[in-house]
Amino acid sequence: MKLKNTEHIFETVKKRNQNETEFLQAVEEVLASIDPVLDKYPEYESVVNSIIEPERFIIFRVPWIDDKGNTQINRGFRVQFNSAIGPYKGGLRFHPSVNASIIKFLGFEQIFKNSLTGLPIGGGKGGSDFDPKGKSDNEILRFCQSFMTELSKYIGAYTDVPAGDIGVGAREIGYLYGQYKRIKGLNEGVLTGKGLPYGGSLTRKEATGYGLIYLMEEILKHNNDSMKNKTVVISGSGNVAIYATEKAMELGAKVVALSDSNGYIHDPNGIDLDAVKQIKEVERKRIKEYVKDHPEAKYFEGCKGIWTIKCDVALPCATQNEIDDESAKFLVANGCKAIGEGANMPSTPEAIDVYLENNIMFAPAKAANAGGVAVSALEMSQNSMRLSWTFEEVDEKLKDIMKNIFVRISTAAKEYGDEGNYVVGSNIAGFLKVAQAMYAQGT
Ligand code: GLU
Repeated sequence: MKLKNTEHIFETVKKRNQNETEFLQAVEEVLASIDPVLDKYPEYESVVNSIIEPERFIIFRVPWIDDKGNTQINRGFRVQFNSAIGPYKGGLRFHPSVNASIIKFLGFEQIFKNSLTGLPIGGGKGGSDFDPKGKSDNEILRFCQSFMTELSKYIGAYTDVPAGDIGVGAREIGYLYGQYKRIKGLNEGVLTGKGLPYGGSLTRKEATGYGLIYLMEEILKHNNDSMKNKTVVISGSGNVAIYATEKAMELGAKVVALSDSNGYIHDPNGIDLDAVKQIKEVERKRIKEYVKDHPEAKYFEGCKGIWTIKCDVALPCATQNEIDDESAKFLVANGCKAIGEGANMPSTPEAIDVYLENNIMFAPAKAANAGGVAVSALEMSQNSMRLSWTFEEVDEKLKDIMKNIFVRISTAAKEYGDEGNYVVGSNIAGFLKVAQAMYAQGT
């Protein structure tokens, strides 16, 4: 990637955040896209200088007692990256791979993603290197309570509103919310992704997956095509993958593969989604269980092989850097037409180069998975108004938001001379709103 106006800024970022490879990867991509914006708005240089540094980064100890009575220690994080357009907003990830670099890359991405939604939310992210896999319900409860005991000092409905991400679902949000209330005595919308009986929003669970498909449908429509009759490969089997599968099937596509961190299933007849929901949402088991009752399906160990399956549309919904250039080349060679990122930064920069060189319709994460955080913002609105919208009302709003995101990213790409390049379009459109706000506020 060649940088001109922002090269010296990237040098500073590298010096300050040595060895934080994921964070540097995310920053370099954004700087490369917005470099030409500085030719038009040189006054935004100070904004760029400022936007790459988090407003605040909190790291804390999380002690908790396991079922054997031993004290365990994990590390907790919250990055409050940018509040120019609203309270910090972004999920919490509980996964052993979590470290400062991962949290900062996710928080940085969140600034631009949240801006693209058109709603007043700033960028933040948090989590822990705690591994929920194999832990009992009581261990999860004790961990969440300890995590929130510390985090509660820094968040609030008008300052910072966390939500879920990998390893943090409805159960964890419930435990975290209960502890926040106990400590602060405040029944406020401090978290999103809450359960429906205590201030959660309908359609939040489905939002990221549905939103991804709404955006893909817009992009395909723009190219005189649609999701109908498409063969789709989706990685992951969490919330994003499950509800992307549901909406893709509703629009007439056939989803033939899903995965988890151990391996993937390939069902050429089309995935039986009810069976997947039972395994993942009810029994909390591994995806390989699926082949027990589906003899026509095959299970393969390892994750990379999923991208060798022939498909028209590929939707990486698992984790960062899951598609490298080798996998990207397989997708292209097998005739894949469109790729949409349900996970955050699932394609390496080299993979993205392969997509763009081969004119794949490519929806980057900041735009493609923004539906989740958008409905989180709608949950905040409902909490503030003390009312609940119907499923249909929220779904309609989500559809509109995704359509508007498509307009924003395609217009920006065209305006800056790179029509159809939604990487550039997302970064520029996301940046400009935050830049205007920062500039107006004295950076
Ligand atoms: N973790 C999701 C994301 O990456 C959702 C964040 C939220 O709802 O605040 O955007």
